[in-house]
Amino acid sequence: MAMRKNAKPKPVPCPDCDGKGETSETVRVGARKGRATDDRQAALCLTCLGTGEAPADGA
Ligand SMILES: [Zn+2]
Repeated sequence: MAMRKNAKPKPVPCPDCDGKGETSETVRVGARKGRATDDRQAALCLTCLGTGEAPADGA
């Protein structure tokens, strides 16, 4: 049995949050116009759910 280097799969940084696990969203006000304000709020990245890693495809 050949010993292979069992390299752990590199975690792929989430493309949406750059591996930070959270994104900053512009706070919008107004239901219709959705006017953007200067305020930003940190939001949990919904792509990786805060892990900062891109979700594995398949599985
Ligand atoms: Zn993310």
